[in-house]
Amino acid sequence: MARFGLMLRKLPAGLLYLVRSWVVVCAVALCAGGSARAQAVVDMLPVQVAPGVWYVQGLSALGAPANQNFISNAGFVVTPAGVVVIDALGSPALAQRLIAEIRKVSAQPITHVIVTHYHADHIYGLQAFKAAGARILAHRAAREYLQSDTARLRLEASRQELAPWVDAQTRLLDADEWLDGDLTLTVGGVPMQIRHVGPSHTPEDLVVVLPRQKLLFAGDLVFRARIPFVGQADSKQWIKALDALLGFDTTVIVPGHGPVSTSAREDMQLTRDYLVHLRTTMGTAARNLDPFEDAYKAADWSRFDKLPLFRVANRMNAYNTYLLMEQESK
Ligand SMILES: [Zn+2]
Repeated sequence: MARFGLMLRKLPAGLLYLVRSWVVVCAVALCAGGSARAQAVVDMLPVQVAPGVWYVQGLSALGAPANQNFISNAGFVVTPAGVVVIDALGSPALAQRLIAEIRKVSAQPITHVIVTHYHADHIYGLQAFKAAGARILAHRAAREYLQSDTARLRLEASRQELAPWVDAQTRLLDADEWLDGDLTLTVGGVPMQIRHVGPSHTPEDLVVVLPRQKLLFAGDLVFRARIPFVGQADSKQWIKALDALLGFDTTVIVPGHGPVSTSAREDMQLTRDYLVHLRTTMGTAARNLDPFEDAYKAADWSRFDKLPLFRVANRMNAYNTYLLMEQESK
């Protein structure tokens, strides 16, 4: 949820109220969740999803001190010559825990971390992997965000909101190798196809295909078991990218959030259907110049309103889509 500051600056004054209300709702939800689980220990249990391939699953929740910001997934591929990690989790402490879990199954060095995109919950652990000797790979389009005030302000806010897990020592890290497009990374004879599928969820979205295992690390192009975070996404391109993913020969998907899936098509379909629904309802309203509030109330959310995070994420997703559709209809 990293690009909020930029978004706020773009809003007309009257609509700021709406957004601020949403922030208060989020803050209340975060506090309530945080205090209820104040001392809870969040488990991190690697799940093997193919020979040599594991992932850990974050909570379907907002980031909070009680969960160490463990709200996104990460994966790792063990090869005879090294371990490749996909995404770095949401705090250095979580990354250290993941490294400890990796050490239980392999003594090989961690050679690479592939960053699917530079959202806070996927990158705040990078420095732990870097210290362990890994090279960071990411798409070049992330550099604009990394150099922005938005990224800096997001980190400053996270140091408050996620203390002590994100603190003054937590840094934003550049990639060691910025990719301009697709790359097949082969480590220990195991090919990993890194595909650039942005701009969709973010400009820099990467997915990783393991062709031998028919497995896809989909990053945040696929959300399972919760409402997607749309943010400043280009949902038109996101839908196209999902269609491209549906064309890959994969049977297992590890999404950026939620449990692993062996029903690739259905799961991509849920994210896709949600984006299409946002664009259809908000697009019609934007074209007819209907006020956002009226359009939001009139829309039928019954297919999605039982999903976790609907209450905190759906209104903002709809509102961002409304603004996007206004832009597209000009
Ligand atoms: Zn994301």
